[in-house]
This record gives sequence, C-alpha cells and structure tokens, in this order.
Amino acid sequence: MQKIQMKTPLVEMDGDEMTRVIWQQIKDILILPYINLKSEYYDLGLENREKTKDQVTFDSAEATKKYGVAVKCATITPNAARMPEYNLSQMWKSPNGTIRAILDGTVFRAPILVKGVTPYIPTWTKPITIARHAYGDVYKNTEMVVEKGSKAELLVTRPDGTTETSLIHEFKGDGIIQGLHNLDESISSFARSCFNFGLDTKQDVWFSTKDTISKKYDHRFKDIFAEIYENEYKEKFEAAGIEYFYTLIDDAVARVIRSNGGYIWACKNYDGDVMSDMIATAYGSLAMMTSVLVSPDGVYEYEAAHGTVQRHYYKHLKGEETSTNSVATLFAWTGALRKRGELDELPELVNFADKLEKAVIDTIEGGTMTGDLYLISTLENKKKVNTTEFLKAVNETLKGLL
Ligand code: NAP
Ligand code: MG
Repeated sequence: MQKIQMKTPLVEMDGDEMTRVIWQQIKDILILPYINLKSEYYDLGLENREKTKDQVTFDSAEATKKYGVAVKCATITPNAARMPEYNLSQMWKSPNGTIRAILDGTVFRAPILVKGVTPYIPTWTKPITIARHAYGDVYKNTEMVVEKGSKAELLVTRPDGTTETSLIHEFKGDGIIQGLHNLDESISSFARSCFNFGLDTKQDVWFSTKDTISKKYDHRFKDIFAEIYENEYKEKFEAAGIEYFYTLIDDAVARVIRSNGGYIWACKNYDGDVMSDMIATAYGSLAMMTSVLVSPDGVYEYEAAHGTVQRHYYKHLKGEETSTNSVATLFAWTGALRKRGELDELPELVNFADKLEKAVIDTIEGGTMTGDLYLISTLENKKKVNTTEFLKAVNETLKGLL
C-alpha cells in the first residue's frame, strides 16, 4: 500500500509519562506505517520545558497559529512534588493554560460511545458536547469577608474620571461579598467558537445562563450570542439544517437529562466546569472523551481530556505490565489528521482518520479492551489486553477496513 502524503505539517506537541509512551506507540503502530507524516515536532515534555525555560510551549502555540492544526499529548502541570523529581528551576505554568491564552479558544469535550459501556442515563444514545467558556466570572473574582455594620458598594471609575456606584448591601451581621467580571470580546470569541463548531460538526448549539436573575451580567452573554448568531450565522445554520437554541440553565439541565444527546451545550465558565465532569462521568470515563480547543479564527488543537496517567507510568518504569486506555490520545490524532485533510483537501487523509476511529470502536465492541473499560463493559466476550496489545489489535482491525 502506498503511504498517504500530506501537504501542510501538523503541529505535534509531545508530552509526559504514560501518555508519552503511548504517543510513540500510536505513531509507530498506527500512523507511520500508513502516512508519510509531515509534522513540526515540539517536545513539551517537562524536561524540555525546563531546558528551554518553557519557550517551547510558546513556540508550539505560535506554530499552531501559523499552520492551523495541532495535536497535543497530555503534559505534567508541575506542583511541589515535581520540583525535585524533575529538578525544576521554576514551577512552570500549565501548558494548556499557556496555549489557551495564546490561541484564545474554547474547549469542546465529547464522549466516545461504544457498545457495552452504557451511560448512566441510558437515553443518551448520542454524545453531548460541552463547550466551556474559559475566561472570567468566579475564576477571576475578588472576594472579601465583611464585618457587621459595614456597607458594601460597587464603584466604577470611567475613563473620563466620573464614577458610578451601586449599593451591594448594608451588613446588619457579618457576611461576604464577591466581585466578578467578563469581557465582551471574550464572550464574542466564545460565541463564534461555538457556532463554528456547530457548523463543523453539524450539531445544534444550546446555550444557557441565568439571565432572569442576572439581568445585566448573564443577559449580556445572551445578547452577545443572539446578536452574533443573527448577524453572522443564522443563514449558515439554516443551510446546514441545524439550530441555535437559548434557554435558562435550569431548563437546560432538565432538557439535557430528557434528551438523546447529539448537540453542543455551551456553558459559562462555572457551569461548564461542573457540567463537564457530570457528563464525562455519566458517559463512562475521561479516557473515552475527545477534547479540542477551537480558536475564534479557526485554529484547532486536539488533545486527550485526561492527564499523564502517572500511576501507570511508574508501573511501566518498574517493568510491570500496564493496561492504559489510549483511545482519547488516538482520537486526538485522528481529529487532527481529519482536520488537516479537510483543510488541505486530502480525502485519503480524512478517510484514514475515519477508518482508524472505526477500527478503535470495532475493536472494543469486538471485546478487546484495556482494563478500565474491562471493569465497566457489559459485553460477555470481553478480554483485557495490555497497552501495546490494544494498539496492535486496533491495527489488525484497521487492516481489515482499509
Ligand atoms: P490522570 O492522568 O487523569 O489519571 C488519574 C487516574 O485516572 C489514573 O491513575 C487512572 O486510574 C485513571 N486514568 C486516567 N486516564 C486513563 C487512561 N487513559 N487509561 C486508564 N486509566 C486512566 O491524572 P493524574 O495521574 O493524577 O495526573 C498526572 C498528571 O497529569 C499531573 O501531573 C497533571 O498535572 C497532569 N494533567 C494533565 C492534563 C493535560 O495535559 N491535559 C490534564 C489533567 C492532568 P487508575 O490508577 O485507577 O487506573
Ligand atoms: Mg473541574
């Protein structure tokens, strides 16, 4: 078989620990035998971040802006324990945070459904994609503890020096206050990312806030979404046969539970934080989630939603067998290759990505799976395999499909 040729390089961001081991195996077993891989490689492993004083993270994000599509391996976000382990000169920031700040994106997370792993909500037969706004609100708050007898006011000083104040509360007893903010520009980017992703994946977009109670703050989110939809997306949505739908967060929650899935649920920062964990858990596992960062100008970074699976890595280092689920990392690769294929008009590459995803699903549904799925699968003929055996089994299925 002739290898598939690529036109534009994929930005490849390597990572840490068990996912780094899996990364290499995915390339060796499932990518390089089939594709003449063109990639611009950035080693975001913690050792190299230390060596380059984290410059490599910034460079990889800039390269992503330049080429448009990246695939990222899970990386360590250092904490105190990692300082001596990797002999770090600084507690480097989360690479995901750095990349997100440069690309200014929204993260979309969707479960990968397989027969045998039933969601806790059995009517969810299609995936629910959560789009979480990643700026502001309670994550950039200012809080104070207030003593009895205090008066709290909101004070804004305008550029011309004039001020506006608004009473928050006159405290007859001890209490607390909190100040939040968000930016029109960030909310607009969020809206565009959600609408673009809806068009991309041909799914309805739902958006929910609490605008009946928060008549200025949450209402601003609702208005910005509505305005951008009307002016820039309505016609495209109608042509694609999809809908934009706004509702109150409490109504949304009720509808989500009753739904069959198959839409994108755009959430404010806090709602998205909470709901994405609920959705991931209800569908099965973080190792069975896709995750992609989409910037408002249409740059895509695909990754796995889970971490570097440290516990399995330490077993691997001791020479013990591991059974780590590579599905989320594999889907990061297929997502990136498919997007590259679409942008460069390479149908063979798109087809390869589709077939590889199908091979993964067919392999699991055929009963061959890693330990995490083995524990929850209801299939009768299920068989637990190790990390490498799983990838080899996927390759056998793939050969049959190609
Ligand atoms: P983790 O990698 O998410 O793993 C936590 C546990 O979840 C594992 O011990 C394992 O459970 C299970 N698990 C997660 N992914 C799995 C997979 N693919 N296959 C099978 N089981 C899986 O979190 P962690 O080990 O606590 O964190 C390690 C590092 O990841 C941290 O340094 C953190 O900073 C980093 N992190 C990175 C990202 C990212 O880059 N996107 C995200 C989160 C965390 P069992 O041990 O029970 O088998
Ligand atoms: Mg959370």
